[in-house]
Amino acid sequence: MTLGRTRSVAVTGIHGRVVDVEADVSSGLPAFTVSGMPDTACRQSPDRVKAAAANSDLELPKQRITVNLSPASLLKQGSGFDLAIAVAALVAGGTISPELVDRVVHLGELGLDGTVRPIHGVLPAVRAAEEAGARQVVVPVGNAAEAALVPSIEVVPVDTLAALVQRYRCLHRRKPTPPLPEVNPRSSVHPAVPDLADVVGQSAARYALEVAAAGGHHLAMIGPPGAGKTMIAERLPGLLPPLSREQALEVTAIHSVLGALPEQVLIEHPPFMAPHHGASMASIIGGGSGRVRPGAVSRAHGGVLFLDETPEFRRDVLDALRQPLESGLVHVARASEVVTYPARFQLVLAANPCPCGNNFGKGTRCVCPPQLKRHYLSRMSGPLLDRVDLRLQMMPVTRASLAGPRGESSAAVAERVAAARARQSRRWREIGRQLNSQVPGPVLRSGRWRLGADVTRPLDRALETGALTLRGYDRCLRTSWTLADLDGAPRPDLQHVQEAHGLRETGEAA
Ligand SMILES: [Zn+2]
Repeated sequence: MTLGRTRSVAVTGIHGRVVDVEADVSSGLPAFTVSGMPDTACRQSPDRVKAAAANSDLELPKQRITVNLSPASLLKQGSGFDLAIAVAALVAGGTISPELVDRVVHLGELGLDGTVRPIHGVLPAVRAAEEAGARQVVVPVGNAAEAALVPSIEVVPVDTLAALVQRYRCLHRRKPTPPLPEVNPRSSVHPAVPDLADVVGQSAARYALEVAAAGGHHLAMIGPPGAGKTMIAERLPGLLPPLSREQALEVTAIHSVLGALPEQVLIEHPPFMAPHHGASMASIIGGGSGRVRPGAVSRAHGGVLFLDETPEFRRDVLDALRQPLESGLVHVARASEVVTYPARFQLVLAANPCPCGNNFGKGTRCVCPPQLKRHYLSRMSGPLLDRVDLRLQMMPVTRASLAGPRGESSAAVAERVAAARARQSRRWREIGRQLNSQVPGPVLRSGRWRLGADVTRPLDRALETGALTLRGYDRCLRTSWTLADLDGAPRPDLQHVQEAHGLRETGEAA
């Protein structure tokens, strides 16, 4: 045998593609090279394979070994091809019999001592293997629980190259194989999401949060430090329904690519991301030096992106949020490639009323020059605020409100949210939408969903006087439908519309 063949997977974004790994042995001076668009880490694979084989008492052919990864048009990144390259070379050298491995997908990095090390992106890689019809995938034992999230493929966990070769030798001689290494049981920890019951008072903010959760509306909160903006935002994921199986796999795949799955479990609950305002473009939108990585917008996919002190964020970062807000995707361009990640999140913005934070109520304690005050909040306006249906003015928590009763629990509110969401998804199924926040304005203003003039009167008047733009008008309509859904009403009435208008303008805190 001078040709060895097996398979592996190249992951771009959160999508994998099966790659054929072929090792050819030819006469000539000993050499070991990889071709087929490997990146630097992948090109260095032969060094790790040689050391791992030597330290596992395995013999590689002492001739010229050429490994080709195809399709060649696909960039092969990282050290995750090590195991497949080693297996292909050992087949070419006659150590492993070819029929055992040519259809098997091998994933894993090799340590110089021959251990098989966990890699990033195993979940999307195994999904790609399954889609390509592979029946068996060999993965590092540290990634086995994650690989097992894909049900219809046999996962073989390995801890060393020597143990894998031993297994193939036994299979070849039809002898019983040694036991596979033990996989840590998947812990199914429920993330600790803070509960709404801990929020005392703040009835307007609590209600705005419920509306935001019910209709999937983006929310902006403006209020002084200490008004509880962060506390409110953190409780939004706890009001949202758990992710569907398909969403959960997608969200988990993003965190898998980042290597941020310490528990190796399926992420079944909406994530919450709160990047700092000083964070770089790459860490928020995606990118980075070396390998492209998903940013906070993608880590918030299926959940909530919270920007505390929004006016302090870099302008270009805020502008770059437009693309994911419009399409639910983010395209990260690099010299050699454009990588696309999912990024559909619910946005929560928070801002102080002015740089000093005291411009609330009569604003007598504010020390900011008027021009600075105007400029401050305008940083948040424009295209970003245009997509925010709910705008909430918050006041500092007073001693009187602290004496109030404990609020409702997140579970109780989540039940109403789920019921309201069920109504929406039934209603908008025919136009392919699920939530009121996703329905285009023209759909709400014409045809069968148009509301009577007696109901929309306050909005019509505001539009005529210029107090409301057409976009603002549509946002009020969307919110009105959510208020009706929370009420169990078939259509919004005048009160819903008035209330929606209030939630867009201010919504004074109680
Ligand atoms: Zn001020």
